[in-house]
Amino acid sequence: MGHVRSVSAEPTTARSPTTCRPGHATCTCDTDVFMTAGGTGAITAITIVLGGAPGANILLPRPGFAPYEAACEIAGAKPRFYDLLPRQGWEANLASVRSLADSATAAIVVINPNNPCGAVYSAQHLFQIAETARDLGIPVIADEVYAHMVFGGSKFVPMASFAHIAPVISIGALSKRFMVPGWRLGWLAFCDPNGALKHVRTATEMLLNVTSGPASIVQAAVPKILSDEHSVFHRNVVNLLESAADTLYRRVNQIEALECYSKPHGSMFMMVEINTSLLYDVADDIDFARQLIKEECVLVLPGSVIGLKNWVRIFFGVPVSLMQEACDRIELFCQRRTVQEKSIKHLSKKF
Ligand SMILES: *Cc1c(COP(=O)(O)O)cnc(C)c1O
Repeated sequence: MGHVRSVSAEPTTARSPTTCRPGHATCTCDTDVFMTAGGTGAITAITIVLGGAPGANILLPRPGFAPYEAACEIAGAKPRFYDLLPRQGWEANLASVRSLADSATAAIVVINPNNPCGAVYSAQHLFQIAETARDLGIPVIADEVYAHMVFGGSKFVPMASFAHIAPVISIGALSKRFMVPGWRLGWLAFCDPNGALKHVRTATEMLLNVTSGPASIVQAAVPKILSDEHSVFHRNVVNLLESAADTLYRRVNQIEALECYSKPHGSMFMMVEINTSLLYDVADDIDFARQLIKEECVLVLPGSVIGLKNWVRIFFGVPVSLMQEACDRIELFCQRRTVQEKSIKHLSKKF
C-alpha cells in the first residue's frame, strides 16, 4: 500500500463510531472525515485552523485536558477557560461561556465523556451547549475520544446530534476505547449541515495534506476495528471501569480529607477535592501528589496543572483489586497526615 492521504477514502467506509449512527440523520460522509496522528493530532490541526486569525480565542473547559492549551500556544490563539461545575455533575457553566465569548471567539471545546471529571452529559445539556454556541455564532469542537465508555445508566449522546443547531467538529481516536494508544490514530469529523464551516474544512484539508497523517498500515486496519465485532471486549472494559469507579468513589468518600461530589459515569478519571487543612504538612495538591508517590507509589495528577488547585485527578482504568490496593495506600497516607487534636495542642505548645 502506498502513501495514503489524510483525507480518508477507505477507513471511513466503516462508519465512524461517533457520527454516522443510523437515527442521527445529520451528514458526515467520507469526505467529512480526516484521519490524524492520534486524537492529539486532531486537536492540534483544528486549533491551528480555527485559532489562526489574529487575536482569536478558544473557549476551553476548566478543569481540562492540557493539549488544548498547548495547541492554542502553537496556533497563537488565546485560551479562555469556562468552569465545569463540580456540584452539578460537572456541567458547563453556560453563563460563564456567554460572558467569556466575544467577536474573536473561534470555537468552544466540549469534552464528553469527560476527562478529567468522568462526567457524561445528558442530551438536554448538550442541547443547551449547542444553543449557546448558536447564539455566539461559533462551532463546537466535540472531543469524544471516550465515546461509548459510559456506565451507571448513562448514555453517550454524540454532540453531532445537535449539528442542525450549531456546527460540530467531532474528535475521535482509537487510543482509549480500543486501548491502542501507541497506534496514533484519530480523526476529525465535520458535521456541518448548513455549510457554515466550508472554508474551515478546506483549510483543514490543506493543512493535513502537508503534515503527516497516521501510517497507512494502521489506517488499513480501521474498517475492521470499527466494525461491531467487539461487543464482548467493550462490555468487559465498561464493566471493569464501572466496578473500579464505584470502588474509588466509595473509598475516597470514606476518607475525611478527600471528597468527590459526583460519581464518574464515563471515561477513566475522577476529580477529588483535598481539604488540606485536615492534612498535616500537605501545603497543596502538588505537595499531596509528590508525597503520595514518594511514600505509597500511587500516582495522581495535581489539579493545578489542569486548572483546579487543591484537587487531584485519579485514574481508575485498572482491575478492582488494584483499585482497592491504591485506595488502601491513599487511605494510609491520609491517616498518617491526619491532624489529631492532641498533636495540634502539642504543636501549639511548641510555638
Ligand atoms: C487521550 C485523549 C485525547 C487524545 O488521544 P490520543 O492518544 O492522542 O489519540 C484527546 N482528548 C482527550 C480528552 C483525551 O483524554
